[in-house]
Amino acid sequence: MVAPTAQARIREWADAGRLTWHARAAVAADVDGQLLVFAITDDGDTNAMLAKAAAARNVLVQRADDAAGSDFLVPAVVQRDALQIAISSDGHAPTLARILRTRLDAWIPRAYGDLARLAGEFRDRVKTRLPRQARARFWLRVLDGPIAEKVFSGRMTEARVDLDDALSHPEAGLPTRGEVYLVGGGPGDPDLLTSRALRLMQRADVVLHDSLIAPAILEMANPDAERIHVGKRAARHTLPQEDINALMVRLAGEGKRVLRLKGGDPFVFGRGGEEIAQLAEAGIAFQVVPGITAASGCAAYAGIPLTHRDYAQSVTFVTGHLKAGELELPWGQLAQPGQTVVFFMAVKSLPVICEKLRAHGLAADWPAALVIEGTTVRQRLIVGSLTDLPARVASAVVQGPALLIVGEVVRLNETLGWFRPDSNTDTQA
Ligand code: SAH
Repeated sequence: MVAPTAQARIREWADAGRLTWHARAAVAADVDGQLLVFAITDDGDTNAMLAKAAAARNVLVQRADDAAGSDFLVPAVVQRDALQIAISSDGHAPTLARILRTRLDAWIPRAYGDLARLAGEFRDRVKTRLPRQARARFWLRVLDGPIAEKVFSGRMTEARVDLDDALSHPEAGLPTRGEVYLVGGGPGDPDLLTSRALRLMQRADVVLHDSLIAPAILEMANPDAERIHVGKRAARHTLPQEDINALMVRLAGEGKRVLRLKGGDPFVFGRGGEEIAQLAEAGIAFQVVPGITAASGCAAYAGIPLTHRDYAQSVTFVTGHLKAGELELPWGQLAQPGQTVVFFMAVKSLPVICEKLRAHGLAADWPAALVIEGTTVRQRLIVGSLTDLPARVASAVVQGPALLIVGEVVRLNETLGWFRPDSNTDTQA
């Protein structure tokens, strides 16, 4: 490097022997004997002089201030082992290329490098084993099917065995690519999807979704995928659970990639366990992608830390779903102080819950809040006590899913609340 001054990092590298720094202005002779020259000083005349010197000596040059006068450009690179993605703006907007690089880097799973490596290991065998016309199709099914998914789930050894089997018995073919993705879609804000959820959503052939899934989230799934609404909304069941299970088994059996999209997290009051039990029994491949449960989403967006050292040492998720008008819960445990209790499906049962908690010992002014359509732009928060919350909610006409949070942490919302789309907060007067 030739430059009169240098930043700390460059000086450190020079001290460590990682580069040689000449502390002076550049001259034409510096180009002598070089393979590549970066003429990237702040001074246009110096850059022009270096470019001219380089051209005279047949040395390739890059000019920071003149893309057209450069022999080469340096792309921004996303790297996953052997796999490289280069982004170039042809010199127009290197910063844009860097922004895109950062986005792609966050979005492309690390395991793509493993996948490339696995393909590399088998490349020669595939070449000798399969006729030319069959190879591209073979790789497409390997790199975009269950074997790739195994690599992405860290099951490299299994993936290698499957690939080995497929090559040893080409007549049996590759494992069918039919698979079910049980994916948590989060509480409502599409930004809260995980990158794994998004990746699988975009690969799906069929989407089975609940009523709870926000249209904005559904839109992010593969636009060509068939959409089947199987959700249930309170009493109006669209499809009984057994039919949903059977449908998934049938579709995956036909070789389709089935996305089962659930609100929140599939394992939190989502019947996810029941659904995959059927798949396991039928020998259908599946994977489960966690989502942000409404409990975490609503708490975060309402400014209510579910545990806070001063107020709650534990948090309990409970269903408030009434069975024949009744709610069988361990009230004695739920009515203890020093904890937070989150009730799902609790709008109808709200008066019963508040009354039971008081009857079992919680104070009349014990804080409670209802978060309605949490994390969406329609989020509403109704804050009160076990005594007055039911009346507040009754007069507020609640529509959409709502979550009840009970505990002293609710009060923190006054100072920690940050997401107030339209100041939809109704606090104690
Ligand atoms: N698996 C989901 C819960 C399904 S049960 C999860 O992990 O979040 C459905 C209940 O979740 C609703 O009755 C409601 O209590 C709660 N819920 C889901 N989304 C919500 C949201 N955006 N705001 C408030 N509550 C929500």
